[in-house]
Amino acid sequence: MQTVTKLIAGNWKMNGLAADLVEVEALSSALASEKAACRVALCPPATLIDRMRRAAGDDIEIGGQDCRSEAQGAFTGGVSGAMLRDAGASLVILGHSERRQEFAESDRLVSRKVDAALEAGLEPIVCVGETLEERDADRAVEVVRGQVMNSLPSTLAGRAFAVAYEPVWAIGTGRTPTLEQIEEVHRAVRAAILERLGLGAATAPILYGGSVKPDNAREILSIAEVGGALVGGASLKAKDFLGIVRAV
Ligand code: PEP
Repeated sequence: MQTVTKLIAGNWKMNGLAADLVEVEALSSALASEKAACRVALCPPATLIDRMRRAAGDDIEIGGQDCRSEAQGAFTGGVSGAMLRDAGASLVILGHSERRQEFAESDRLVSRKVDAALEAGLEPIVCVGETLEERDADRAVEVVRGQVMNSLPSTLAGRAFAVAYEPVWAIGTGRTPTLEQIEEVHRAVRAAILERLGLGAATAPILYGGSVKPDNAREILSIAEVGGALVGGASLKAKDFLGIVRAV
């Protein structure tokens, strides 16, 4: 079996001012003395990317939280992949459920954004996940498989990317699926990725996201096909995030 390098990525969402960079400095100095057993990334708001890149040192990668599908133009308030890259990002989260819900982003749009991110030289982290209603109707695997097949463009073949499985009902709620439920969906995600992109995609990490904390990280990260975590709330404080990184 080919090895997947695990990735622990923090999503700061719409949180973070210059004063919060002390958390990044603390994380950076901890990782400089105890090398992590995985890749570590933080995705701050676009306004902080440049300053976080400087505060983060060599052991933390920086990502954006979204980008437009267009390269430039008359899109007031929009941020392109090239702008994220220019500011210091090397990754970008795309299709997060908050964007799918708040901004009605479809699989088709997410797929175009992935293309734009690749064009800009960014590594996409593509988010998928079912709602509680879909889970309760026993449709989680079917829904997530559909999102993977339709949100990943064929141009991803041979490129570096990650998929994050984030059940919508587990984000920011303190609730997590059972370990069996996580494993079932992760195996289905891997099968869909391979079907869509071929064997070269066997090493793309599949992250789990949704209320990951230092005290549940170890058991979640030891599940087959869990290749890391996408962490919201617990990524804002160095101590909590470090606790998750240390669980790899
Ligand atoms: C997220 O929004 O990507 C997330 C996983 O949030 P939380 O860890 O706070 O549930």
